[in-house]
Amino acid sequence: MTIVSNIEKVLDNAEKLNPRLNSFLSIERASALLRAAEIANTETELNGLAIAVKDNICTKGMRTSCGSHILHNYEAHYDATAISRLDAAGAIVVGKTNMDEFAMGSSNETSAFGPAKNPWDLDRVPGGSSGGSAVAVASGVVRASLGSETGGSVRQPASLCGIVGLKPTYGRISRYGLVAFASSLDNIGIFGRNSTDVADVLGVIAGRDPLDSTSADVPVPDYKFALDGDVDGKTIGVPRELFGEGLDEDVREKVLASVENFRSLGARTVDVELPYAKYGIAVYYIIATAEASSNLARFDGVRYGFRAEDAPGLKEMYFKTREEGFGAEVKRRIMLGTYVLSSGYYDAYYSKAQKVRALVKRDYQRAFEKCDAILTPTSPSVAFKIGERSDDPLAMYLSDIYTVSANLAGVPAISVPCGLSREGLPIGMQLIGDFWSEDVLLNLGHQYESAFPLGAQPIVFAG
Ligand code: GLN
Repeated sequence: MTIVSNIEKVLDNAEKLNPRLNSFLSIERASALLRAAEIANTETELNGLAIAVKDNICTKGMRTSCGSHILHNYEAHYDATAISRLDAAGAIVVGKTNMDEFAMGSSNETSAFGPAKNPWDLDRVPGGSSGGSAVAVASGVVRASLGSETGGSVRQPASLCGIVGLKPTYGRISRYGLVAFASSLDNIGIFGRNSTDVADVLGVIAGRDPLDSTSADVPVPDYKFALDGDVDGKTIGVPRELFGEGLDEDVREKVLASVENFRSLGARTVDVELPYAKYGIAVYYIIATAEASSNLARFDGVRYGFRAEDAPGLKEMYFKTREEGFGAEVKRRIMLGTYVLSSGYYDAYYSKAQKVRALVKRDYQRAFEKCDAILTPTSPSVAFKIGERSDDPLAMYLSDIYTVSANLAGVPAISVPCGLSREGLPIGMQLIGDFWSEDVLLNLGHQYESAFPLGAQPIVFAG
C-alpha cells in the first residue's frame, strides 16, 4: 500500500470509529494527506507511519487543548521536539487525542470533551490520562501513538486497553513542547500494538535536545536490535508484598502466571523488596499537585486560549477565566498543591514528600543490584465502568498504586498485555527497569508477546 492510500485508510477509520470511541479530539485530514503526498517518494525511517498524538503535546497549526475548556481554542505555534523528530523521520500526525484535563486522571472522565471509550467494552473507561492515544492504537486505527506520563498515564491505559505502553527514563525524551503538569515527573511516553512499534518510535524521538535542559546526553541504543536478545540469563525481580490487598483476583493470577511464563523462557526470578512503595501514592499526590499548582498559574486568560467575558477588572478576569476554564479535578489539584507549598505546611508535606521520594528511588537502586527488571501488575483492576469512580477521587488515585513510583524514581517502565480476565478484559503486567534500560524492557516485552500473544481483539476494531 502506498503512503497516501495508507494515510487515507487511517483517516477513514478514525472518522468512522470516533463517534463511538471519542478517542480523537481532532482528526487532521488535510495536513496528513498533504504530508503523505510530500514524502510519498522519499525513503524515510518510519516510511509514512501514521501517528496519533495526545492533545497536550504541541503540534504546530493544530489545536492543542489539553482536554480543557481553558485551551479549547488554543492552536500551538510550534512543534514539540518529539513531533519534529517524528516528522523528519517520515511519521505523519493524523490527529490529536482525548485525555483527562491537563493529564490529571486515570479514566479520561475529567476531559472537558467527554471520555474516550474502551474498545473492549464501550461502557468502560480506557484508563487515563492518555486514554485517547491508547484507544487509537487498541482500536486498530494507528500502530503507535504518543501519550504523556506523570504517574502512570501511559502504562495504565495501555494495560486497560490490551496494548503496550512505555514510560521512558526521565530525561530520555525531550519534554520541549509537552504542556507541563508536574515537571519533575513528566515524560512523553509511547503506545504501540506491540514492543516493536514502540521501539520504532522511541529510536526516533529519544536523545538529548538542547531545547530541554533536563533531557539527558546518554547514548541511544539500537532498540530494534535489542528486541531479539535472549531472555535466558535475565533476572526478573518479584516484589511479593505488592501482590496483596487491593489487587483483583484475576489480575493477581494472570500477572503471577507471567512470572512463570518468563521462567519457561529461561529467565531467573528472585524476590525483591520495595519497602517504600506503599508511600508512593501519598508522596506522588503531594509532589504532583505542588508542581501543578505552579505550572498551571500561566493559564490566566491573558497569554493562552480562553478568556472569560464581562469581567469588570483584571483581577476579576483572572478569577472568572480560571473559574470557568478549569474543571473540578484541576481546581482540586491546584488547591491541594497551593496548600502543601504554603509556608505553614511546606515542611510537613512538600519537604517530607521529597525525602520519601529519595527513599523510593533508593529502593529501586538496591533492587536492581539483584535483577534486570521488576515485574508487578500495571493496574490493580481491569477497566472499570464509566462513572464508577468519578465521584470518589481517592478511589481514582489508587488506580495509580503500581505506576507512580517509577515516575518518582525516574526509572523506565513498560506495560505489556499478559492475559484476559474472566469477563474477557485485558490485563497488563508492568516491567520496571534500571535507568536508561528501555532496551532491556522492550526486549523482555517483545520476547513475552511473541511467546504468549493475547490472542483476542476488542469488539470495536478497524478492519
Ligand atoms: N492518574 C495520575 C494522575 O491523575 C497520573 C496522571 C499522569 O500520569 N499524567 O495524576
